[in-house]
Amino acid sequence: VKKKAGKFEKQAKAVKQTAVLGAGIMGGGIAYQSASKGTPILMKDIKEEAVELGLKESRKLFAKQVERGKLTTEQMAEKLTLIRPTLSYGDFGHVDLVVEAVVENPKVKDAVLTEVEGLVSEDTILTSNTSTISITRLAQNLKRPENFCGMHFFNPVHRMPLVEVIRGEKTGDAAVAATVAYARAMGKTPIVVNDCPGFLVNRVLFPYFGGFSLLVEQGADFQRVDKVMEKFGWPMGPAYLLDVVGMDTAVHANEVMAEGFPDRMARDGKTAIQVMYENERLGQKNDKGFYAYE
Ligand code: NAD
Repeated sequence: VKKKAGKFEKQAKAVKQTAVLGAGIMGGGIAYQSASKGTPILMKDIKEEAVELGLKESRKLFAKQVERGKLTTEQMAEKLTLIRPTLSYGDFGHVDLVVEAVVENPKVKDAVLTEVEGLVSEDTILTSNTSTISITRLAQNLKRPENFCGMHFFNPVHRMPLVEVIRGEKTGDAAVAATVAYARAMGKTPIVVNDCPGFLVNRVLFPYFGGFSLLVEQGADFQRVDKVMEKFGWPMGPAYLLDVVGMDTAVHANEVMAEGFPDRMARDGKTAIQVMYENERLGQKNDKGFYAYE
């Protein structure tokens, strides 16, 4: 197996210069992680405030490393130069791999991906950090779908070790190999999965959230369920985890799963998670979810 994996990765194009599209929660985190492990990255957004915020977050995370004695201030300054914030596609001709991390809207992603495909070189690998959109579907408008795959990070990027590398129907081995190599260079653990609603992690996680939601609907105390699951060994319980994920994101992802697997994931009536969402209890992003964060 080792031999085969080695052979596979030899097909990988060297990933020396990268770019991330979108400097939001995920794009900013991806830029930080790439720079932190030494791969230069262009961080492109359409809003000046977004790139400034993305850079500020990276500065904060590097400063923490300095405080902990893991980096010197010189090293921090050097690593920060590896993130190049930009509002234009000026230098995209020299990029080996692009991670698209713009808003979760298929139309916006289609527009961004086709635009960037026209600007990069023929062998540049394009990837998407989408949580819910099919990779095969996103590849439909591309001229070189073999160079495209999913690269799904988890939030917060600097703390979550797993990256799902998603193979669409037309994804080529070289794209998978380069993406796996880049994930490893970022200090992450990549897994290669086929394209399906929820990929791998959310296919496991959302039935779990569904089970939790049913318990609450039947009168269970969410705090007690959280405590039980912590005792079971999870780092946090389902209610707290839903607050981290965000009720809006959870409702949307569950709709995608229900559409993909109606027999297992579709439910009649409203779930506790939908009720929370409709009552604007989104979780940590607006300071109130199952728990209050003020
Ligand atoms: P976000 O709203 O924080 O950031 C999105 C950024 O994209 C914004 O800064 C916006 O200005 C920018 N943008 C919009 N259009 C653009 C364009 N045409 N070119 C460049 N930038 C553009 O969103 P996020 O939470 O970082 O999510 C980004 C992607 O990552 C989504 O596809 C989401 O599904 C996925 N994702 C999110 C999480 C999460 O927990 N937040 C986890 C895994 C994957």
